[in-house]
Amino acid sequence: MEQYICNACGRKYEVTRSRWKCECGGMLDLDKAAVTVRPETWTKFPNSMFRYADSMPFECSGIWQQVTMGEGLTPLLPLDGTTPDVYVKVDYMMPTLSFKDRGAAVLIAKAKALGAAKVIADSSGNAGTSIASYSARAGIECDVYLSDTTSQKKMAQVKAHGANVREIPGSREAVAAAAQQAVADEGVFYASHVYNPYFYEGTKTYAYEIFEACGGAPDTLIIPAGNGTLLLGAYYSFKELLDSRLIDRLPRIIAVQAANVAPLALAFEKGDKAATPVEGKGTLAEGIAIAAPARSKQILEAVRETNGEFITIEEHEIHSARTALAAKGYYVEVTSAANYAAHLKYDRAPGETVVIPLCGAGMKSD
Ligand SMILES: *Cc1c(COP(=O)(O)O)cnc(C)c1O
Ligand SMILES: [Zn+2]
Repeated sequence: MEQYICNACGRKYEVTRSRWKCECGGMLDLDKAAVTVRPETWTKFPNSMFRYADSMPFECSGIWQQVTMGEGLTPLLPLDGTTPDVYVKVDYMMPTLSFKDRGAAVLIAKAKALGAAKVIADSSGNAGTSIASYSARAGIECDVYLSDTTSQKKMAQVKAHGANVREIPGSREAVAAAAQQAVADEGVFYASHVYNPYFYEGTKTYAYEIFEACGGAPDTLIIPAGNGTLLLGAYYSFKELLDSRLIDRLPRIIAVQAANVAPLALAFEKGDKAATPVEGKGTLAEGIAIAAPARSKQILEAVRETNGEFITIEEHEIHSARTALAAKGYYVEVTSAANYAAHLKYDRAPGETVVIPLCGAGMKSD
């Protein structure tokens, strides 16, 4: 059975409802048996990303079947008719219209397996809507801490699922601190997409699907980096595919940040091991406006190990990218346009295959 292991000091803990970080303050990963990816098992469970359940440390069969809403298996499509080798993965085609459903489905299934009656989450928006939805599905009470500047549409979506919205003034970090205080006071499960490593077991499926659709690894993945939950999930699963000898090299990870809130890009440039929190100037890309990403060390390691790089996006580039994508038929939320803006700035080699995620649906932006 898997355990939690501290990323900083190596201490191990049993997986319980209340444990979410190390006594030393470090982030917890999962200490688990090495994964051997076996594509021949993928036809066992059709119609959702749980077809990859054999690659997850997941001894709660019977539970995920009660929680799944058919998330995953999103289309991988050519960007347009004139840019061969560039693909979009339409990850807004999800039950709550963002890729966060990949992580939330697994995390809430785990919370249910552990017997959680209530969960608390904090979010810049989409993780909150996703956790609220899956909690409702699982019959678990849910409080979501959000900034009072979160888009009204996302707030309405959270409330519609019956979750209690706690609006917190101030920064994204203040929102997280309020949620963590409530977790301590109430002694409930912290359904954090940042701290809880089971979320990454879900986002891993993003890469399995790309592998399956391409029959291998693409050369390059463009991925947004706020807290890095899609980025790390994709990195871990391509590593598992490499270790299982199903691919012979990792795709390069091109990480995208808003120039106004770019702690990871700055640390990458300076050669630092971890990010120093920045004073964010604010950005239209609310979903990646993370001034102090808690897993910065892991994100930087992932980008460096894949020989990747960071691209930062200016505010004016975000809107024009959104308009240009809509002209190709894809209507994404404002944050997601940054991914396409990064592609426009990326110096792609002839024939290089690139996958761009369309992370959130256009209707989510106010
Ligand atoms: C959450 C989110 C991101 C950023 O993901 P991180 O896990 O914070 O790196 C980007 N775009 C959209 C639409 C999101 O919902
Ligand atoms: Zn520790």
